[in-house]
Amino acid sequence: MRIAIGQLWQETNTFNPLPTTRADFEPLGIYSGDELIAKMADVNEPGGFIQHVQKWPERPQLVGLARFAAWPSGPATREAIAGMLHDMTDALCHALPVDAVYLALHGALVADGMPDVEGELLRQVRELVGPAIPVVASLDLHTNITRQMVERADALVLYHTAPHIDVFETGQRAAKVMRRLLVDRVRPVTAFQKIPMVVPAERANTQDPASVSFGIRQFLQHVETDPEVLSIGLATVQPWLDIPEMGSAVVATATSQANAEQLCRELADQVWRRRREYLPELTELADAVRLAHENPAGLVVLGDAGDSTNSGSTGEATAILSELVKHDWPRPAFATMVAPYAVEEARQRGVGAKYAAQLGGVRDQRFSKPITLDVEVANLFDARFTLTGHIGKNMPIDMGPAAVLRHGNVHLLVTTRSGPHFAPDFFRAAGLDPFTASVLVAKSPCGFRAAYQERAKKIYMVRSPGCAPSDFWNYRYERIPRPLWPWDEINDWAVKPPIVA
Ligand SMILES: [Zn+2]
Repeated sequence: MRIAIGQLWQETNTFNPLPTTRADFEPLGIYSGDELIAKMADVNEPGGFIQHVQKWPERPQLVGLARFAAWPSGPATREAIAGMLHDMTDALCHALPVDAVYLALHGALVADGMPDVEGELLRQVRELVGPAIPVVASLDLHTNITRQMVERADALVLYHTAPHIDVFETGQRAAKVMRRLLVDRVRPVTAFQKIPMVVPAERANTQDPASVSFGIRQFLQHVETDPEVLSIGLATVQPWLDIPEMGSAVVATATSQANAEQLCRELADQVWRRRREYLPELTELADAVRLAHENPAGLVVLGDAGDSTNSGSTGEATAILSELVKHDWPRPAFATMVAPYAVEEARQRGVGAKYAAQLGGVRDQRFSKPITLDVEVANLFDARFTLTGHIGKNMPIDMGPAAVLRHGNVHLLVTTRSGPHFAPDFFRAAGLDPFTASVLVAKSPCGFRAAYQERAKKIYMVRSPGCAPSDFWNYRYERIPRPLWPWDEINDWAVKPPIVA
């Protein structure tokens, strides 16, 4: 019994002007063959899948295809995607015959002229293995599920949590589904329903009993305990995608068509009726910084969704930083930025150097306003650490050479590459303790809560500029299907008979 495994992972943001090239997939590790199995054996969804399968009595042979993962950013170049699809399918050709294929995907990867990269990969894989070989894919909760993806895979297994603290478990669930298909010879039916809505991530916290997402997560997890249901998921898509098949979706794979359809209907209806509960309450930027300053005891976290590097923004916005430096902070104030040019300058000048740094407006000329700031180089470091928490389990991160630029008690961490700028271990890599700060800016709309919710005295979601604005429907989109809520008010939509594949 041979099972092929591959990974293609990036959350694309089409507002981000920086193209994602093949080189952008290198820092997180490009692997193939046995190296893929060895390196990913305890990491993210592939790790969950590998460890589950390794416990099967049949002892299947795991065959690594290719692993490509890049931090969220702008659309991939056509050349990069063509190369990666080729590498993946070429490896599969050499691996044939295989008994099953597992792909760990994000589901919101967009390339120049190719809005559904994962659908295309699944199509090519299906063409190579034929209709009888089980193909299972795992997906992020912010995936844009397309008809192509549903039709080419036997089952899609989505994260159930946001913050995404179940990445490893999602791989395990995918393996469990694979076992039903491959060993138990179950022939399931998938029902799929697109919902004409896109919601912000801020309030979609599946761990918060006050959030609409809490009950939905409980529902999904409960439904999957039914042996007649292989998988069920809600995809509240990444909002910053200007593509034709854009929209939320529900998908259910069960042993009977009636069951799959019924679950799909029930879930779609519930989500549609409660859509307004996702709209976030934002604090104006200057107010948020002032409120943080007035709160001298304990840590205040400012959620910078607009420039969230987790949502594929450039990480170069200067708006919150400009406000932070107006205040004297009793303890450190931590802000972050992706600014390779600022890192380079700090390295050339050395620790202790004082100068006027030019920051912003280089990588992102739309949302990032250039500023000049008097700084001292407080530290030079490599932004390398292991991410466990939101989005990662034992996931090696490398954001490249980095520096801490200090202005008064404001510590600005500048990195060469994008990454999880919210992660406590990122601050620790710089020799700083995030939990001792007065205020910390987390470039993330919701995921940062996994690390800070319990320890922050106060959290404000800030109305901040960037490629991932919370009120995305106020921005210009040209390709999305209309009507689509909340761009359009829709009063007459009712759940339709789901598409069955
Ligand atoms: Zn996500």
